[in-house]
Amino acid sequence: MSRYDYDLFTIGAGSGGVRGSRLAAISGARVGVAEEHRPGGTCVIRGCVPKKFMVYASGFAKQFQLAGEYGWSVGEPSFDWPKFRDTMNDEVDRLSGIYAKNLANAGAELIEDRAVLEDAHTIRLVNAGRTVTAKNILIAVGGWPWKPDTIEGAEFACTSNELFHLKTLPKHMVIAGGGYIAVEFAQVFAGLGVEVCLVYRGETVLRGFDEDVRVAVHEGLKRSGVRVITHCNLAKIDKPGGDGFTTVHLENGETIDQVDQVCLATGRAPNTAGLGLDAAGVKTDERGAIIVDEYSKTTADNIYAVGDVTDRVNLTPVAIREAMCVVQTLYGDGPAAYDHTDIASAVFSQPPAGTVGLTEGEARRKYGQIDVYKSTFRPMKGMLGENPDRMLVKLVVKADDGRVVGVHLVGDDAPEIIQAIAIAVKAGLTKAQFDATCAVHPTVAEEIVTMREKWTPPK
Ligand code: NDP
Repeated sequence: MSRYDYDLFTIGAGSGGVRGSRLAAISGARVGVAEEHRPGGTCVIRGCVPKKFMVYASGFAKQFQLAGEYGWSVGEPSFDWPKFRDTMNDEVDRLSGIYAKNLANAGAELIEDRAVLEDAHTIRLVNAGRTVTAKNILIAVGGWPWKPDTIEGAEFACTSNELFHLKTLPKHMVIAGGGYIAVEFAQVFAGLGVEVCLVYRGETVLRGFDEDVRVAVHEGLKRSGVRVITHCNLAKIDKPGGDGFTTVHLENGETIDQVDQVCLATGRAPNTAGLGLDAAGVKTDERGAIIVDEYSKTTADNIYAVGDVTDRVNLTPVAIREAMCVVQTLYGDGPAAYDHTDIASAVFSQPPAGTVGLTEGEARRKYGQIDVYKSTFRPMKGMLGENPDRMLVKLVVKADDGRVVGVHLVGDDAPEIIQAIAIAVKAGLTKAQFDATCAVHPTVAEEIVTMREKWTPPK
C-alpha cells in the first residue's frame, strides 16, 4: 500500500494536465486532478477553440462580398452577436464536459477546487479545506493575460478572456499589442463590423516571425480596415461614461474618442502566483515561469511542470506533447524529452499565416549561407473580383546540403497547409526532394514544390 493518496496529482485540467492525467490513469496510476475553473483550460474555454469560431464568424463578411463577385445575390448581410456568442459558448460548455468525461473514463478523479502546494508531496484543496498527498505532482496551470501597470485606467480595459462573453458587439474598439492575440482579434472584430484601432509599440506586428510574414500580416490588417497605430503605447483610459464610451489617451498625445471597448493583448504571464511553489522547492525564473529540465522536471525531484506555466513554446499541442513525455518518463519505457524544434504554428489573421522552422534571419545567423525561395501572387479564388489579398510562399533552405529549414506562408488555408509541410521539415527533407514532388494543380500550395528561382535581395 502506497503511503500517498495518489500516485500522480495534477494541478490544472487544461490541455496538458488532462492529457497527462488521462494517460497516467490509463497506465494504472491513481490520479487526482484539481481545476479551479472548469476543465478545458485556456485552449478550450477562453482561447484557441472559441477564438477559431469567432474567426469563422468574422470571415463570412468577405465570403458574402466574394459571392457577389461570383454572381450570387446575397442581400444585405447582418450579424446577430448574442445569438452567435451563446451558440459558441454552448459548444465550449459541451467540450468542457467532454474533457471531464474523458478524465472519468480513464479513471482519474477530477476535483473542482483550487490546489496549493504545502510541500513537495502535499496539496491543499483550498475550498474543501483538506489536504491530499501524492508521490508525483504535475503542474499544468497555464498562463493568464497580463496588463502593463504603466496604463492609467487599465481596469477599464478587458483582456482576451472577456471577449468571448461581451454583452453587446462594440462599435469602436481599441486593442493594444501586436502579438497573436491582438492581431487575431483585431481582424475578428473588424470582420464583424466593428471599427477597430490597433495600437502597437513596435514597427511591424508579430515580432519573432519571419519578416515577410510580419509585413504580409501587417498589410492584411490594414486591408481589412483595421486602423494600425505603430510606435505607440496606451497612456490612459478614461473612466467610461454612463453611455459606456471612453476616451483612450496615447503616449504620443493623440486621443481616440468614442471607444466602447478597450482590450489589452499585451502578453500572458505564467499562472504561478500563490501556488505554494517555494514551500515545495519549485523554482521559477524572473517572469514567474517554472524552471524545468528537458524532461519537464522542476527543481523538486518528484514535481513536473508542462505547458504555458513553463514558458517554453506556449502552444496547446506542445503542452500535450510535454505531458505525454512526463507520463512516459514516470510510467512508461523511461525518460522521454520532447524535442521543441520545428514546431509549426498558425496565426489566424485574415488571411492567416502558417510557419514552421527557422525564419530567414534565424537561418542566416545559424548557418551563414542560405537560399531563399519566395513567391507572392494573387490566389485564384480572388481573381474574379476586387480581392486584393496576396499569397506569400517562402522556403528557407540551408545552402550546403539543401535542407529546407523553414517554410512560411500567408494566405487562405495556410494553417492547414503548414501542418502537412511540417512533416517534411521535421523529417529534414531537402529542396531537391520538394522539387521531385509533383504539384497538385490548381492550388496555392503547389508553389511549395514549383519554385525554382532563388530569391535575391533587391540591389
Ligand atoms: P505575445 O507575446 O504574442 O504578444 C504580446 C504583444 O504585446 C507584443 O506585441 C508585445 O510587443 C506587446 N507588449 C508586451 N508588453 C507590452 C507593454 N508593456 N506595453 C505595450 N505592449 C506590450 O502575446 P499574446 O498575448 O498575443 O499571446 C500569448 C501567447 O498565446 C502567445 O505567445 C502564443 O503562444 C499563444 N497564442 C497562440 C495562438 C495561436 O497559436 N494561433 C493564438 C493566441 C495566442 P513586442 O512585440 O514589442 O514585444
